[in-house]
Amino acid sequence: MVLAVVERDGDGALTAESAEVLATARDLAEQLGVPVAAVAVGEAGDLPDDLAKRGVAALHLLQHELLADGGPACLGEALGVLVAALRPPAVIAADRDGTVEAMAWAAAAVGVPLATACTEIRPGAGEWEVTRERSGGVLLEDAVLDAPVRFATLRPGAPAPSETGAAAEIAVHVVVPDLDASVPRARLVERRQRAAGMTLSTAPVVVAGGRGVGSAEGYAVLEELAGLVGGVVGCSRVATNNGWRPHSDQVGLTGTRISPDLYLACGISGATQHWVGCMNARAILAVNTDPEAPMVTRATWAVIGDVHAVLPAVVAEIRRRVDDRS
Ligand SMILES: Cc1cc2nc3c(=O)[nH]c(=O)nc-3n(C[C@H](O)[C@H](O)[C@H](O)COP(=O)(O)OP(=O)(O)OC[C@H]3O[C@@H](n4cnc5c(N)ncnc54)[C@H](O)[C@@H]3O)c2cc1C
Repeated sequence: MVLAVVERDGDGALTAESAEVLATARDLAEQLGVPVAAVAVGEAGDLPDDLAKRGVAALHLLQHELLADGGPACLGEALGVLVAALRPPAVIAADRDGTVEAMAWAAAAVGVPLATACTEIRPGAGEWEVTRERSGGVLLEDAVLDAPVRFATLRPGAPAPSETGAAAEIAVHVVVPDLDASVPRARLVERRQRAAGMTLSTAPVVVAGGRGVGSAEGYAVLEELAGLVGGVVGCSRVATNNGWRPHSDQVGLTGTRISPDLYLACGISGATQHWVGCMNARAILAVNTDPEAPMVTRATWAVIGDVHAVLPAVVAEIRRRVDDRS
């Protein structure tokens, strides 16, 4: 069987990424002539019915108190034991931070490699081929996966597979892994509700600042501008490293990848690790003193100047126009 690692959201519904993982697992299973099985953590809930409709023949439910807050190492340990027992030709999961880490633990336990950030998986007689995103998605790599069990994580938006009919029935197996308290390397200590309203991911306009802003106080004018244009503030890693902004504001490879209608990059050079986070913006306006900065040369529009002069002038002009209208 092809084993799909599936996850549920706070309401118990299958996540969108897991639906894609299942679809890819189903496509692989059809090519290999084997069934699809799924593995999830916790109680069954509506999951068996939902999975049966998606052509899944068996569900393995991992249940252990450490799996609730024990971090990826616990899931990886439990998954590794299950995979060692089932020996499926492939184990597929979503390319999310914690899940990738759990897959890495599991693959290491089984003694095989893990291919992360796959956009395509092509089974072969022996070696399988995968296409993977590298450098945050600016490069695509074709690689060979040579192992008896192929572990792979899938980037969102992998090609949609063909439709399959529902499985006749789904077998549900409860698995209680043998985990002890020394397994968790990290522990979840608190869950916080995300603040209501716009986020970096959903805002139509992001006004982001980098080293050129110069200080935490320097972001006041970016906050003001974001408020006037209905956006939110973002930043580069220099700003988070310097303690000027929280990590939740960081755009980039190790921050959030965004696709707003407009990205204002103020005093940001456009290093690759930042660029991969904002390259899907519909339009980019760079404000920078350096006309050769990568962000300037790639931007839709650029203003060559000091953010401390340009941004207050833009804010003043917007305020003047708003006042004229009222
Ligand atoms: C593994 C790894 C992951 C990383 N992940 C991320 C990530 O997720 N996000 C991220 O942002 N970075 C990330 N980085 C860091 C990245 O490589 C850059 O160091 C960082 O993006 C640079 O931030 P910056 O553009 O603010 O600063 P700089 O590169 O120093 O650029 C500052 C820019 O401001 C301009 N400037 C200076 N003063 C002014 C002024 N007064 N007015 C106007 N312009 C001015 C300069 O001309 C320059 O272009 C990562 C690095 C690594 C190694």
